[in-house]
Amino acid sequence: MFRFFLALLFIASNFISAQNVKPKNIIILIGDGMGINYVGASLLQDSNSPFKEFKSIGLSITCSADKLITDSAAGATAIATGYLTNNKYVSVDPLGKPLYTIFELAKKRGLSTGIVVTSSVAHATPGAFVAHTKDRNDQTEIASQMIDKNIDVVIGGGLKYFLPKNLAGVRDDDRNLIEVLKSKNYSLPKNYVELNSLKESTKNLYALLESDGLPESTKRNYTLGDLTNNALKHLKRNSKGFVLMIEGSQIDWAGHDHKSKELLTEMKDFVTAVKAALVFAKENKNTLVLITSDHETGGMSITNGNLDATDIELSYTSGGHTPSPVGIFSFGPGENIFKAIMHINQIGQKLFQILDPSKKF
Ligand SMILES: [Zn+2]
Repeated sequence: MFRFFLALLFIASNFISAQNVKPKNIIILIGDGMGINYVGASLLQDSNSPFKEFKSIGLSITCSADKLITDSAAGATAIATGYLTNNKYVSVDPLGKPLYTIFELAKKRGLSTGIVVTSSVAHATPGAFVAHTKDRNDQTEIASQMIDKNIDVVIGGGLKYFLPKNLAGVRDDDRNLIEVLKSKNYSLPKNYVELNSLKESTKNLYALLESDGLPESTKRNYTLGDLTNNALKHLKRNSKGFVLMIEGSQIDWAGHDHKSKELLTEMKDFVTAVKAALVFAKENKNTLVLITSDHETGGMSITNGNLDATDIELSYTSGGHTPSPVGIFSFGPGENIFKAIMHINQIGQKLFQILDPSKKF
């Protein structure tokens, strides 16, 4: 009888520890503006959609500290810090005080950090992971703060925010941040071919592939998934793990402009990154993959189409963002804690508590 009791205790403790498994690597995928209907359109058009592999699904309420309808700065701040702030604020609280970010915590714990976006790397969403400012439009300031954060891998556009005006940049302070990165021994591939040909090395990298945002997905010969694979190739060398943030930045831009064709192709591009993250997570089982959005854009709905959805009609009720809740899709160790309805900053709180269980909010 006593042995039987011990066996039960053993099974129960194993069950509890399986529930509490902490991931070593965290991959956060943000579809900017990607409301539920965006995911719905993608699902209708792709019967093998990788979204179907996610079993833990939640909803995020995206209102900011001062507005029912958030912008990307406050939305990304909530995910990156665990706190709500005002629209336009980048990882500072409503009084302007800096908020500690998940990237800052990851670095302190010895993890690597990475950013892959299709906008400028100094745009509001990546900015919230690396900088503190009340003005999301001050991309030169975000770039200045970013180079001091020793991010391991940065891939996207936005070269002009790192260069002075006499070198085709937009910086008023005449600083050349690319020279600073060279002095810090960063690899600086100038285009996708150079990035893709880099061997896994001990060097960190900044791949600023365009002056501002990247071309839309149909006008470049590489996908967000290709960029993601390049980031993972370099980040995986850290035995302590990494936190990687990937953004499908231009999904939102297509939603603002009611450009349905582009919206669907940007979603397809985002899905290539989801696939890349899932392949990595299956090979490296200590990896959590989390997909969410900062807000919905355009009040988009699917209003017509043929049966296999190869030709669908999208309609819009807004030229801006809306407060419609967005999805949370999680896969891997720790996925269960995101399976709920929560406010957007609780996503950030849960990410912090994965890295530091003692962290209180
Ligand atoms: Zn927007």
